Amino acid sequence: MNIKDFSKEDYWRTIILYGLNQATYKIALGQSLIRFSQQQKNIVTINELAEDFFDMYKERLKRGKPQLATPNRQTAMERIVNLYNIGKLTRSQAVDKVEKDAFNDVIDRFHNVDNLQIPMSFYEKTDKGIVIFDNVYDIFSDKKNNKLRNELDARWDLLESAFEIKRTNSKLVNDLRKLYLVNGYARTDITKNRNVLNGYQNNVCFYCGELMTEDDVHVDHVIPRQFMNHDDIWNLVLSHGFCNLHKSDNLPDRHYIEKLIERNEYFIKSNHPISNKLKEQLGNTAKQRKVTIYRIYEHATRVLSPWNGIHGYNPVTDPFYKTFIRNILMNK
Ligand SMILES: [Zn+2]
Repeated sequence: MNIKDFSKEDYWRTIILYGLNQATYKIALGQSLIRFSQQQKNIVTINELAEDFFDMYKERLKRGKPQLATPNRQTAMERIVNLYNIGKLTRSQAVDKVEKDAFNDVIDRFHNVDNLQIPMSFYEKTDKGIVIFDNVYDIFSDKKNNKLRNELDARWDLLESAFEIKRTNSKLVNDLRKLYLVNGYARTDITKNRNVLNGYQNNVCFYCGELMTEDDVHVDHVIPRQFMNHDDIWNLVLSHGFCNLHKSDNLPDRHYIEKLIERNEYFIKSNHPISNKLKEQLGNTAKQRKVTIYRIYEHATRVLSPWNGIHGYNPVTDPFYKTFIRNILMNK
């Protein structure tokens, strides 16, 4: 689409629907523009706009949803409405405060989407307030554009929900980090596990399925130590230095976790000396152990970035996997 094919509705929608909004101010200003233009009121003082904002947020905040993406912080509008609600501000004091603190640069930046200036304006700023252009009236007096107004409401709902999720997550991430930190323990010499682990891996890298040479065998935490804060053997595997580095402090795909669970179960079934340790760490039954590892994995997905594994690696062609399947079939 060429830029001249854009209608004023398109520009309106671009402003409302696109761009990274860190707060809900832009949506609120859109609502005010529509309301004033429908009252045929084009010249709006900053005080009238502040009044409109205050009334709008006073209603809106009754739903108890956040208006800002940043956790543990509030928008100026939320602070002002709270002060009004607990009787610390009169209505006119609150409106004055909105005028002074709350607009920030929203009036200047309404027409920007991701730092680009939209080549159509819906109002202009003056010394005393704003002058709303007729295009706003045109758009919303047209019945076929009713859905644009609903879109504005929906966008506000959507932003609030997105902010809420972000906040819940950030609290959860902090709680999880603390939990694993408290239950963790100091670093141990994990290379001592190398022979035990290799008894099962047969010099094949856990992540890429290729052979490892003697001088390039790393003991790796499948769920990164950075998150686990311990060196329990159920979480240790052998890998190439390269694969280890490639994975870094990221969380491997679920199929590696399945493989890890199967690996641990193999040790237990074969009555390997470490099987008691695995039971101690993860639980007495296969089901408990699986649940434990998946619970930790789900927690880790909240905190760490994902790692898709080594490109081209297919668990089915992995000699480790094939050995494993063969062993299962033989033991049936
Ligand atoms: Zn590898």
